[in-house]
Amino acid sequence: MANYRAPLEDIEFVVKNLIDFDTLAQLPAYAEYDMDGDFAVSVLEEAGKFASGVLAPNREAGDRVGSVMVDGQVKLAPGYGDAFKQMGEAGWYAISMPTDVGGQGLPELLNTSANEMWTAADIAFSLGPLLSAGAALAIHAHGSEEQKQSYLPKMLSGEWSGTMNLTEPQSGSDLATIKTKAVPQGDHYLISGQKIYISFGDHDATSNIIHLVLARIEGAPEGTGGISLFIVPKFTLDADGNAGERNDVKCVSIEHKLGIHGSPTCVMQYGDNGGAVGYLVGKENRGLQAMFTMMNEARLKVGIEGLGVSEAAYQHALYYAKDRVQGRDSAGQKAAIIKHADVRRMLMTMKSLTEAMRAYSYNEAVNFDIAHHHPDRELGAAMQRRVDLMIPVIKGWMTEIGQEVASLGVQIHGGMGYVEETGAAQFYRDIRIAAIYEGTNGIQAADLVGRKLGMDGGQTMMSVIAEMEDTLAAMQAHDKASAFAGYLASAINGLKDSTAAVLAMMQSNPQQAMLASFNYMMQAGYCFGGYHMARAMMVAHDALAVDATNKQMQAKVHSTRFYMEHMLPRAEMCGQSVRNSNNDDLLSMDDELFG
Ligand SMILES: Cc1cc2nc3c(=O)[nH]c(=O)nc-3n(C[C@H](O)[C@H](O)[C@H](O)COP(=O)(O)OP(=O)(O)OC[C@H]3O[C@@H](n4cnc5c(N)ncnc54)[C@H](O)[C@@H]3O)c2cc1C
Repeated sequence: MANYRAPLEDIEFVVKNLIDFDTLAQLPAYAEYDMDGDFAVSVLEEAGKFASGVLAPNREAGDRVGSVMVDGQVKLAPGYGDAFKQMGEAGWYAISMPTDVGGQGLPELLNTSANEMWTAADIAFSLGPLLSAGAALAIHAHGSEEQKQSYLPKMLSGEWSGTMNLTEPQSGSDLATIKTKAVPQGDHYLISGQKIYISFGDHDATSNIIHLVLARIEGAPEGTGGISLFIVPKFTLDADGNAGERNDVKCVSIEHKLGIHGSPTCVMQYGDNGGAVGYLVGKENRGLQAMFTMMNEARLKVGIEGLGVSEAAYQHALYYAKDRVQGRDSAGQKAAIIKHADVRRMLMTMKSLTEAMRAYSYNEAVNFDIAHHHPDRELGAAMQRRVDLMIPVIKGWMTEIGQEVASLGVQIHGGMGYVEETGAAQFYRDIRIAAIYEGTNGIQAADLVGRKLGMDGGQTMMSVIAEMEDTLAAMQAHDKASAFAGYLASAINGLKDSTAAVLAMMQSNPQQAMLASFNYMMQAGYCFGGYHMARAMMVAHDALAVDATNKQMQAKVHSTRFYMEHMLPRAEMCGQSVRNSNNDDLLSMDDELFG
């Protein structure tokens, strides 16, 4: 079985060749750092050591033993408690949070790359820090000064953890129906109700757990306009700000599930004994908007789960493919399965998709930083629109691809992939959730088409297309890469056509646009991946012109070529489905005809 090794070579390739460090270095937020590719790589090397040395060794026991409930208390899987502590001590919880609240103030790019490594090492564990960071971010953006000072330093140091409590039995994708109740009581509220599927809702690794809870204040309007956000600590704070009395909130059970067994998925009961003490965050009835602040961040991170698990599944499959002898090679000799054409197809599919996701998502992470920190606020606002457009694609496309890659990993192992002992099946089971939580991929697609594309009549998408056309022009002029420019050209043209088609459907019949939305999201993802793989291809060829023996660049030429010839054409298949949605009578078909 392969041990996870952080893919620092490819990370360094992306960071040093495909990222705009000039813009990043100019942002005043990072003025205290000598922000360039070397600095970024030095931080990421440490993250890589932490991921492979501390987190990855727990992955298998996390799956096998899982988190369990003993005498009403959730016990985390072996090694998780210690990993929580070490992560806090090393400062990894707070990479990109501002320094004034205990963060490290580093760019989102580094946070994104580190998150790739955490999820690759052990996605189940990584959910804990991910949600803690999300909760801290929401408090930072919407909490009072007092709340920030009371909660953030301990959350960011890992002494306390955080959770996000949105889902209720009747409120999944549609949060408008939330029933959890908040009754005003002096300077606080009493919260009662049930939340389900709460990741790391209870555990024994930190001395307090800070729940962020969506609830409805008595008398608030129906629907999304009546939902408020509350801090509900597991232990209320004493006069010194430390964990004090036990609050009226408990985990009543944990779910048995397909994967991420190490992550306790809790049913949380609030207020069985009169009401849990909760504190309003931000304004009354503005809770959903407050949650949306951190949703872009959380959705980016869930998209990164697709990347991280793909990388880990690929490393696993590659190791096996080199080791497993079966059949004969073209010379008639007994051979490892890596010699077989179909296994090579699967390996290269895994590798090229993983590299495309990395190059794409890291570039968009930089746009997060520009959106948040650029002194030119007009540019910042334009970049925010771009981030908003990209988030559903990153979340949806990358988690769909993560499932495909993990499934290919099982396939390469043959029967040994289906049985549990090689660990290939765990990647497949674990990544399945990423397409479901943080807004299902159907909801992402609807958001992309229904809100993000329409918010400016497709202008932001057209500006991304124009940017891709600049790369296409460079590719057409490149002596080596030009041979593959036709693939990028037709993918870009296809995306243009689909964008126009979807915008027209939104005007004429929005439900038809919803039918097209999933394939539009996938088409965009393949196309954006192709854009960055084209850039990578040119860099690799240029490097080989200087040193033809450079193995990393030789490999990059292969993976980028494979992407152009075998992956990018999938964009056009999706495009056809998008355009066919216009005339489709599926929506008017009688439900009875489904059988
Ligand atoms: C392991 C795990 C961990 C989780 N962690 C958390 C957590 O920490 N905090 C938290 O609050 N929640 C958490 N969740 C909940 C998760 O976010 C929800 O499961 C998810 O939002 C989907 O809601 P649902 O399960 O009710 O599905 P439903 O909303 O019932 O959806 C069922 C299907 O219908 C589709 N659908 C529904 N509405 C629409 C629509 N309008 N348009 C198109 N399609 C639609 C969906 O795409 C899906 O395919 C977790 C869930 C799991 C399983």
